[in-house]
Amino acid sequence: MIAIRGATTVDGDRPQFIKDVVKELLEEIFKRNGLTEENAVCMLFSNTSDLHSLYPAKAAREAGFFGCPMYSSLEPEMEGALEKCIRVMVLAEGQKPPVHVYLRGAKALRADLSGIYNVAIDGPAGSGKSTISKILGKKLNILCLDTGAMYRACALKCLWSGVPADDETCVSRIIENIDLTVKYENGEQKTMLDGKDVSAEIRRPEISMLASKVSALGCVREKMVGLQRKIAAETSCILDGRDIGTNVLPNAGFKFYLTASPEVRARRRCEENRQKGFDTPYEEILEEIKKRDFQDKTRKIAPLKQADDAILVDSSEMSIDEVVRFMESKIQEKI
Ligand code: C5P
Repeated sequence: MIAIRGATTVDGDRPQFIKDVVKELLEEIFKRNGLTEENAVCMLFSNTSDLHSLYPAKAAREAGFFGCPMYSSLEPEMEGALEKCIRVMVLAEGQKPPVHVYLRGAKALRADLSGIYNVAIDGPAGSGKSTISKILGKKLNILCLDTGAMYRACALKCLWSGVPADDETCVSRIIENIDLTVKYENGEQKTMLDGKDVSAEIRRPEISMLASKVSALGCVREKMVGLQRKIAAETSCILDGRDIGTNVLPNAGFKFYLTASPEVRARRRCEENRQKGFDTPYEEILEEIKKRDFQDKTRKIAPLKQADDAILVDSSEMSIDEVVRFMESKIQEKI
């Protein structure tokens, strides 16, 4: 059993406000700890004496949390205490160390626990960024943002609109109002374009080269970098891409540059494509990888390169497990 602490504050002593913040707090606690409601054993709430309109436990029930016993108590009045504060201790079945959650004004209570951190993983196509990020994200219990998927979605939008991916004037018109979002289902990133889940479609081999072309345009980068920075500011996450450590998050807490020889990367992509049902010959993939490397490294805006303070990881001779363990140890040293 694990005990997870959480706290938040509320703007006013109103039932709806209390319900909203309690719901937000519990959802964050369950999400960040990789738990579902069924894992909860009990929840113990307390609140400061300036909140009267709704007990947090009742708010939790009304907000849709039904599955376990709950208890609320009132805290004594203390001089200098945070105002309108709700605290919770969630006891749950789980093995991993608890991730405590402090939101809103309550972040001030435990700045050490509420710090958001970002991990930047850059590198060329096929170096294993997505695979490694997903495993690492699960281990650290934080989200992963595959930024390449966003450029792929831009390329798909060009294709749908019949716009050449290197025609900046036309592309800027469709990118300006692009309806592109990412959402997470069971920790998996879903890339949504015009309300449609395009996660599988953007993996088509012909989209790769188009994405590389479209990502060289300033208007596209500006829009995507804005979206990426917004996501990174709101939550701890791993961002994998080409320019995360150099351009998107130059102050990221952790930076890695993951690479491997073109031949190794082509072999991996070949295998990956085969599993997805695309039977592209090895030579063709190798050729495409070299061409894409060249395009990504030589473009004018935010070219692919290792940030000065990024740790270089050459995975040519390393297993996925070895890379993950290495990166995790570097991160755990500091958090
Ligand atoms: O990583 P992935 O192969 O999905 O990326 C597709 C293309 O998107 C890359 O070849 C690159 O041109 C572009 N990209 C980028 N900046 C990023 C991520 C991807 O320019 N941060």
